[in-house]
Amino acid sequence: MKRTKIVCTLGPATNNREAIEKLIDAGMNAIRLNFSHLTPEEAIDSIKLIKQIRKERNVALSLILDTKGPEVRVYGYKEPIKIEANSIFVIKSYEKDDIASTLTGEEDVLLTNLPYIGKLVKVGQKVLMMDGFLEAHVVEVTDENTIKVSFTNSGLLKPAAHLSIPHINYGLRFLSEKDKQDIAFAIQNEFEYIALSFVSSKEDLLEVRKLIETIDKASKTKLISKIENKKAVDNIEQIIEYSDGIMVARGDLGVENDIEKVPVIQKRIIRLCYTSGKPVITATQMLESMIDNPIPTRAEASDVANAVYDLSSAVMLSGETAIGKFPIRVVETMTKIIKEVENSLDFNDILTKLTRMPANPDVTTAIATRAVHIAYDINAKAIVVATTSGYAARMVSKVRPRLPIIAYTFDLMTYNQLALNWGILPRLIEKCDLFEDLVKIIREDLLKFKIAEKKDNIILVSGLPIGKEGTTNSIRVEIV
Ligand code: PGA
Ligand code: MN
Repeated sequence: MKRTKIVCTLGPATNNREAIEKLIDAGMNAIRLNFSHLTPEEAIDSIKLIKQIRKERNVALSLILDTKGPEVRVYGYKEPIKIEANSIFVIKSYEKDDIASTLTGEEDVLLTNLPYIGKLVKVGQKVLMMDGFLEAHVVEVTDENTIKVSFTNSGLLKPAAHLSIPHINYGLRFLSEKDKQDIAFAIQNEFEYIALSFVSSKEDLLEVRKLIETIDKASKTKLISKIENKKAVDNIEQIIEYSDGIMVARGDLGVENDIEKVPVIQKRIIRLCYTSGKPVITATQMLESMIDNPIPTRAEASDVANAVYDLSSAVMLSGETAIGKFPIRVVETMTKIIKEVENSLDFNDILTKLTRMPANPDVTTAIATRAVHIAYDINAKAIVVATTSGYAARMVSKVRPRLPIIAYTFDLMTYNQLALNWGILPRLIEKCDLFEDLVKIIREDLLKFKIAEKKDNIILVSGLPIGKEGTTNSIRVEIV
C-alpha cells in the first residue's frame, strides 16, 4: 500500500469508464474536475459515472471540484497570435460579460478582464502571458484602462491566455457568478472537496462558507485553498486555519511570485499543514513531460520523490492525465516513485520529530499520537480507527506513521474524503450500535482483506457511544 495519495485531473484523455477504472488500478485516490474548463452540464455525466464506479469497485475515491476563480486572461482574438520580440501591443481593461467572444479586430490590441490595468502598473513593470512563456514590460500607461507593452521574447499567444503581473494585487472579486454556481453544484452533488482557486485571505473562505450555508446547512464538503499568489503566501497561517486542506498550486505561484521562491514555499506550506493536521496537495508539472513522452525526465522523477520526502498528503497530475498521451502510465510511474521513497523513509525519526510539534490541544489528538507510539512499541500490524467525521483518523495521519491507518466509518462522505489523507485506507461498514459488534466486523474485515492475520496485534482507536462525533477516548490493543 502506498501512503502518499494521487490526485488525477479528469479530461478528454480519461473521461470514460475504462480509463477511470485503469487509473484506480494504477493508484489514483482522488479525481479533480477543473471548472476553469467545465460547466455543471458538461460535468454531470462524469460525476454519475465516477460515483457508480467507486461503488461497484468498493474503493474510496474523493471527488474534487476545482473552481475557475478570479483568473486574469487576455482576450479579443480568435486565432493564436505570433508574437515577435520587441513588438508593441496595447492591453485594454474590458469589464463586460461578453469579453470571451468579443474581437478587437486589430492584431495588436488585446482585452483583459482585469479592471483599471492602467492604475495597477507603472512603466517598466513586468507582464507575463502563457504562464510565463511570453514576457513583456510596460512601455506606456495611456490611461487608467489602457497600457502598452513590449514583448521581450517571441512565441505564440494562444486565445484566452493567462495574464500575470507579478506581485500585483489585482483587486478582482473573489467569487464570480460562475464560481457561485459551480460551488452550489459541488454542494448539491456532494463533492468531497472544493478546491478554491486564488484564495488570498481568510475572508475568502468565510465568504464561501457563508454561501454554502445558504445552499445546504448540513453540507460536509471540505474546502481546499489553492495557494497561487504572494498575498496567499503572506497569509498562509490564517488560510490554513480556516481551510480543511491546502494545495500548493505551483503553476500560478511560479508566475505570480518569483520562481526561485516556490520550492522553499512548498516545503514551508507542507510543514505548516501536517503540523495542523490538514491535508496538503503538491500540484502542477510533476510529470509534465509525460504529456507527450512515455518516461519522465530525471528532474521530474526527483520532484515527485521530493514532494513525498516533504510528507505531502497527495501529489497531483493535471495535463498529464487530462490531455496527455500516457495517462495510465503516468499514474503507474508516480506510484512506483512514491513506493520507492516511502520504503526508504526513517519512520522512527519522523515520529519523534512530529510528536515534538505543538499538538492540537484536544483529547482526540493526544489519543491518536499516543496510539502510534504504542503501536510501534508492541509491533502492531495496523492502527485501526473507528471514526465518524474522520477527525480521529486524520490526527493519526498527522504524525505520518509507518503502519497502515485503517479508518472504519459508517459515513459515506467521510469514507470518500479520507481517500485524500496520507496513509489512510478508508473502509465503509454497516452501522452497528454495540462496541462488541464493531470489533467483530473490523476483525472479519481485516482478515478478509488480508490487512492482518490471526494472532496479530492491532491498535484500535475509538470512542463510545460509537457513531457519535467527537467521542474518541480509547486506545485498545486487540488481537485479531
Ligand atoms: P490550475 O491550478 O491547474 O487550476 O491553474 C494549479 C496551479 O496553478 O498550479
Ligand atoms: Mn492555478
